[in-house]
Amino acid sequence: MGSSELALDGSASRGPATGHDASELSLSDAVDRDRLIASFLELLSIDSPTGHETEIGRLLESRFAGLGCQTSRDEVGNLVAVLPGTRAGTILISTHMDTAGSDRGITPIVDDGLVRTDGSTILGADDKSGIACCLELLTLLRDHPAQPRPTIEFVVSVGEERGLVGSRHLDVSRLKASHGFVLDTAGPIGSITYWTPTSVYLTMTFSGRKAHAGVEPEKGVSAIRMAAEAIAAMPLGRIDAETVANIGTIAGGEARNIVPGSVVLEGMARSHDQGKLDEQVQAMREACEGAAARLGGRVEFTVEEIYRTYRIPEDAAPYREAAAAIRSVGLTVVPRKSGGGTDANLFNAKGIACVALPTGMVDEHATTERISIHDLVTACRVLVAIATQLQHDGESS
Ligand SMILES: [Zn+2]
Repeated sequence: MGSSELALDGSASRGPATGHDASELSLSDAVDRDRLIASFLELLSIDSPTGHETEIGRLLESRFAGLGCQTSRDEVGNLVAVLPGTRAGTILISTHMDTAGSDRGITPIVDDGLVRTDGSTILGADDKSGIACCLELLTLLRDHPAQPRPTIEFVVSVGEERGLVGSRHLDVSRLKASHGFVLDTAGPIGSITYWTPTSVYLTMTFSGRKAHAGVEPEKGVSAIRMAAEAIAAMPLGRIDAETVANIGTIAGGEARNIVPGSVVLEGMARSHDQGKLDEQVQAMREACEGAAARLGGRVEFTVEEIYRTYRIPEDAAPYREAAAAIRSVGLTVVPRKSGGGTDANLFNAKGIACVALPTGMVDEHATTERISIHDLVTACRVLVAIATQLQHDGESS
């Protein structure tokens, strides 16, 4: 993208503040707006739809290494970059390098305080805005070596948008952090995603019996009819405040004149309450088994957990430290219960307590995806405040 577009926004850079009493300043005031945007735009210009993260992975490894981190990639491509601390404590900061869907050739437009696209592709602020904040944090820490800081373990995962593939694969025994922060949500800056649902993928394969529909239909058992009766009997949509369910695809049958022998349904269910989720899945299973039994066929019903619910209490380290950082930049803490998962679900399941935080992204996964530069800068200030607060959990003093 051209630098002339950058200038459209016009307002002055927030360079490192000078001319003030240094004791009144915190490093979060030194976030450099123009540098942050330039780095964000560079990341957006590199195509990285899920499954095609090689080029951006290479670039990120060299960027993180150039800013003082010890870097490594695992066999699926996750990047782990560790910035050694100058005092005790280790925190995790997590983002992902893939973008949703298959869009390529993303052309960001900087306009009226926003970064957006021309409407033909997604933007990829999900999650390149989070990565840009990490690079700005590292740049500030490099330029302010006297700033005390804990060890920071950055994880930039691959395949997040296809069911948290990278973080599912990540060997967390390599990490020392007891807790962390996942920069990968929408919502107002100041919000803390402390509670998410469990999500399961459901696959229902109905087997009937094929027959010639014109000559001897009575010999057939229609798998389409079975699937239709099962769907009609299922609770779907918004079940209650915690629970949702959906059948998203249906595939089966061969020809107009063949009683269909096989149909596959794909669906999902989510709930913030594990017990309610189990009940919902059971109701869907019974609807399938009932229809199959009534019509004389069979159904195979499989459940795959994609991520598990977590709920971080207010007094737990990641919540407390995120809240302190949010307040330190003058914002109000907004507790957020989310309907979707992030890598935070996997880290929590693997024993690293994490909250998820917003980057300013809006309408992620849509061609209207955009981000306010002000919000991006503020999200970055919150991140810098998290990384430079006086004490982190696990420190003795
Ligand atoms: Zn994301």
